[in-house]
Amino acid sequence: MGLTHTYDVVIVGAGPAGMCAALYTGRSMLKTAVLERGIPGGELLNTEKLDDWIGEKSILGWELAKKFEEHSREFGAEYVTANVTRVTRREDGMFDTVTDGDDVYRSPAVIVTAGGTPVKLGIPGEMEFSGKGVSYCAICDGAFFKQQVIVVIGGGDAAVEEADFLTRYASKVYVIHRRDEFRASRILQERLRANPKVEVLWSTVPEEIVGDGQGLMSGIVLRNVKTDAVRTLDATGCFVFVGFRPNTGIIDAHFDHDDMGYVLTDTTMQTSIKGLFAAGDLRSQLTRQVTTAVGDATTAAIGVEKYLKARAEGGHAIDPHGSGGYAV
Ligand SMILES: Cc1cc2nc3c(=O)[nH]c(=O)nc-3n(C[C@H](O)[C@H](O)[C@H](O)COP(=O)(O)OP(=O)(O)OC[C@H]3O[C@@H](n4cnc5c(N)ncnc54)[C@H](O)[C@@H]3O)c2cc1C
Repeated sequence: MGLTHTYDVVIVGAGPAGMCAALYTGRSMLKTAVLERGIPGGELLNTEKLDDWIGEKSILGWELAKKFEEHSREFGAEYVTANVTRVTRREDGMFDTVTDGDDVYRSPAVIVTAGGTPVKLGIPGEMEFSGKGVSYCAICDGAFFKQQVIVVIGGGDAAVEEADFLTRYASKVYVIHRRDEFRASRILQERLRANPKVEVLWSTVPEEIVGDGQGLMSGIVLRNVKTDAVRTLDATGCFVFVGFRPNTGIIDAHFDHDDMGYVLTDTTMQTSIKGLFAAGDLRSQLTRQVTTAVGDATTAAIGVEKYLKARAEGGHAIDPHGSGGYAV
C-alpha cells in the first residue's frame, strides 16, 4: 500500500500542456503536483527542432522543453516521476490519482494532459530515423523537406489530406497504401488525384527505412502485397499516418468523447466529469500543436481556479463565459 498525498490540483503528464498548466496553477498559489512517467517535455523530446514557436525562429525540441520546465517550476509546482495508472472521482467529489507504485495523489481537481501516441509502423529503421526523416506530423515537419522526395504512409483522411499539404514543400510525394483504394473521404481523394506532384503506390507496404550512412534517412524498402516484388525507393522523408491514440485509458469512468476517442470539453476545458479538466493533444480539436496545447492548458488552469473557488463557496458560481456554471 502506497502513501496518500494531498494537493489542490494534480496534473497528469509533463508535456507542453502539463508544464504550462503547472505554471498557471502555481502562479495562482494552488498546491500543484505534476506526475510524469518519463522526462518532462512530452513530444517536444521527439522533435528535433521547431520553427513555429512564436518568438523563436528556430529552437531545438529539448531546449524548449527545458525552458518550459524551468519556468513552470518557478511558481512552485512539484514534479514527481510516476506512471499514473488510474484517475478516479470519489463520491465526495475528490479525485484519487493512483500511480503504479500505489501512491495516491488526492485533489479536488485534476488536469489530464497525457497527450497521445501516434501508431507506429513497427518496421526496422523507423525508430532509428525518427526525427531524421521519419515524422508523424506534417504541419510540424513538412517545411524541413523543401524540394525533396518523400513518402506518406496510410490511406485514411489524415494520410490523404497531409500528402496533399506536403506537396507545398516536397518536389514529389509518394503515397504508400496497403489496399487498392483509400478509406479517405471522396473530396480529399479527388483533390489528391488532381495534384500532379503525387503518385500513389497501391497494394504496397513499407518493410524498412534505410539510411545514408550518416544518420539520415535515404530510402524506404517497399513490398507489393499482390506480387511480393520488393524494391527500394529513394526518399529523404517518410510521414506516417496510420492512426493516433489519445492516452485516455487512465480515466476510470465514462467521459464524453468524439468518434475517435478524443476528450470533449466545455469552453473551460472541463470534461463531462466535474472537476476533471483536459488539455492538449488528447482533447478533441482541429489541430494538435505546441501552441494549441499551451492555449488549452492556460484555459484549463484558470478553469480549475474558478472551479475550486466555486466549490469552496458552495458550488453555485456562474461561469462568466456562459458554459453552464460550476455546479459541484
Ligand atoms: C515528431 C513530432 C514533431 C512535432 N513537431 C511539432 C512542431 O514543430 N511544432 C508544433 O507546434 N508541434 C509539433 N508537434 C506536436 C506537439 O509536439 C504536440 O502537439 C504537443 O507536444 C502536445 O502537448 P501535450 O502536452 O498535449 O502532449 P505530449 O507532448 O504528448 O505530452 C504528454 C505527456 O504525458 C505523459 N504521460 C502520458 N501518459 C502518462 C501516464 N499514464 N502517467 C504519467 N505521464 C504520462 C507523457 O510521457 C508525456 O510526457 C510534433 C509532434 C511530433 C510527434
